[in-house]
Amino acid sequence: MRSSRKRLNSLSQGSSTFSSLANIFSNLTFMTWGRIFGSKEAVLDFCYKTGLIPDPNSEPNCKVPRCTGKYYKIEDRASCKIGWRIRCQVCGHKIIPTKDTWFENIKLDYEQALFVAFCFVCEEPISRAILQIDVNKNTGTNWYGYVREVAEVIISNEFEKIGGIGKIVECDETHICSRKFHRGRYLRSGQVWVFGGICREDNSTFFVEVSDRTRETLMTAMQKYIHPDSFIVTDSWRSYEGLTRYGFAYHEMVNHKKGFLSKHDKTINTQKVERLWRSVKQDITFFGRKDQSDEVQGHAIASELAKHGYMAKFIRPLEQPGLRFERICKDISRVFPGPFGKGLELRKI
Ligand SMILES: [Zn+2]
Repeated sequence: MRSSRKRLNSLSQGSSTFSSLANIFSNLTFMTWGRIFGSKEAVLDFCYKTGLIPDPNSEPNCKVPRCTGKYYKIEDRASCKIGWRIRCQVCGHKIIPTKDTWFENIKLDYEQALFVAFCFVCEEPISRAILQIDVNKNTGTNWYGYVREVAEVIISNEFEKIGGIGKIVECDETHICSRKFHRGRYLRSGQVWVFGGICREDNSTFFVEVSDRTRETLMTAMQKYIHPDSFIVTDSWRSYEGLTRYGFAYHEMVNHKKGFLSKHDKTINTQKVERLWRSVKQDITFFGRKDQSDEVQGHAIASELAKHGYMAKFIRPLEQPGLRFERICKDISRVFPGPFGKGLELRKI
């Protein structure tokens, strides 16, 4: 793997075909990665153009109060990984350009970190990224986590209620177990209830971890996540009784005891949400350790659910790997805009 990377990198000389971002995104695949990001200059140029790192030619205004100066690039190979800083011409204030970017304090090469993000959006297993960029498992796992963190922030900021007039929303609760990653034993504290729904017409989804399955808990979640004019289909768990009293226009229950499909209407079923649970459970891989508290475990589940939501809503509809990468790069720079912006933060829905 290492040698094939070197071979690909050596092909990159004079890769001016990839000087525009549009060209990069429309041509990017696992095969072309090495040609596109074959030199440090190409990687940095990409980072400046996408806003992942501030462009050294942009001359931003000084951040020191009352100073009217602008920052200019100065070489600093000794103390900056990136090789330069910006310095205010009037007051001399200096900033490392990677401050508050996704790359702040990074130990990997920028290209390696970008490759992890590329694997993430292409749904390649983390082991592939680790093998190819030749880092240890912890480092690879951490960087996967940093991409997931971006997905979590974005989905929390862009969430809209699902369903609406003339749309059917299937809701259901399920148990999710957090399996220990290394030995596959179940943790006693690792079982949580997850409540979710899917809109039949447009496949939009929501998931939320809930402490119990009482009516109060489920209704609160439904009011937050589902448009009140939706036609709601649930199983016949008693907490769902009287749903229309909570502001929902239409509600039907499936009686699982009398067979999977309701006798009087074949559209009254929760097959779609049950399929969704299967795919969510397949996606979820836990890295929990034995000494982790319940809170950490809970966070891991919430974070995995957010990742699933992000992938379903923003990434999977894009077929080309390059377009998926474009989306994640844009989202990384929205969450980590660097020293001159204000990044999006995790929003509690
Ligand atoms: Zn200044």
